Amino acid sequence: MKKVLVLAETRDGQLRNVSLEALAAAHVLAEGGEVVAALFGPDSGAHAAVLGHHGAGTVYVADHAALAQYTPDAYAQALKQLIDFVSPDAVVLGHTAIGRDVAPRVAARLGYGLISDVTGLEAGPVFTRPIYAGKAFQKRTFTDGAIMITIRPNNIPAAAPDTGKTATVVPFDVEIKDLRSIVKEVVRKTSGKVDLSEAKIIVSGGRGVKSADGFKPLYELAEVLGAAVGASRGACDADYCDYSMQIGQTGKVVTPDLYIACGISGAIQHLAGMSNSKVIVAINKDPEAPIFQVADYGIVGDLFEVVPLLTAEFKKVLV
Ligand code: FAD
Repeated sequence: MKKVLVLAETRDGQLRNVSLEALAAAHVLAEGGEVVAALFGPDSGAHAAVLGHHGAGTVYVADHAALAQYTPDAYAQALKQLIDFVSPDAVVLGHTAIGRDVAPRVAARLGYGLISDVTGLEAGPVFTRPIYAGKAFQKRTFTDGAIMITIRPNNIPAAAPDTGKTATVVPFDVEIKDLRSIVKEVVRKTSGKVDLSEAKIIVSGGRGVKSADGFKPLYELAEVLGAAVGASRGACDADYCDYSMQIGQTGKVVTPDLYIACGISGAIQHLAGMSNSKVIVAINKDPEAPIFQVADYGIVGDLFEVVPLLTAEFKKVLV
């Protein structure tokens, strides 16, 4: 029986779903032991109840003002102090921008082992993670000592909430000093309602959309499906959309339940970011486009005809 700590994350005041997935992973690692969670930042304690419903027995809340926005220094200091206090056998974070940045810093300071970008775990524990840009999977295990993992969003299912379960909320005072960077302002480049990296459905556009306006039918489809809109680098390079939407080897890596690729050829660098999606639908007017090799469903046609038809049909059943 082990003690496992989860660093939960919020974004725009909302608890991120990957934190609930991290709690599910933590329960596997705890082998019947104790699962505790942490929330950083002012007002973050409001999410403690939900963490409790998902199996956190204790939630430590560090509401220091320096944790309002992520900075590597402040988060690393706070997480290290919390780990020193809690002494967990394992720490689980989301493989998010924050998790990817803070986990190696703290693991190195503490001498913890770290396995990042975990997409599956089984008893042992044995961790699965993609390698070679998603073309192969590696199974890894720790040999000894305390461990830290980051889990890729949308891969380890969160447990159903049990409102009968509650967490004990414990304020945790952290001492943050010698900050080498402070966040003065955050300017968001995307205004999408659904976060790309955690979206269950993604409608993605490539150079085939032909212009910034060409993304309009994709946004309409996404609106009906409750999806996020992504893009290939081809579309970003052509200035049809912002680079924050780029999916692929040098963009975001996503694993939605449904990925709809519109006017995307399927270059290997794009596939590196989306080929592990559960169901892939490709719309392309070229029947030889490589995207069809990874697609579960392929539609050979003009996206400007096909996408509005899909939107109209989905509207009939979903709206
Ligand atoms: P294209 O390859 O030009 O494909 C456009 C497709 O649209 C074609 O298949 C065409 O048949 C179809 N089409 C055209 N009109 C229509 C229509 N009306 N209806 C339907 N279909 C239509 N790419 C990424 O996406 N992500 C990355 O992270 C990434 N990283 C890279 C890193 C490196 C180091 C390098 C060298 C490249 C990287 N690339 C990345 C670029 C990648 O190699 C491709 O150039 C890019 O993915 C192509 O984008 P695309 O599929 O939108 O464009």
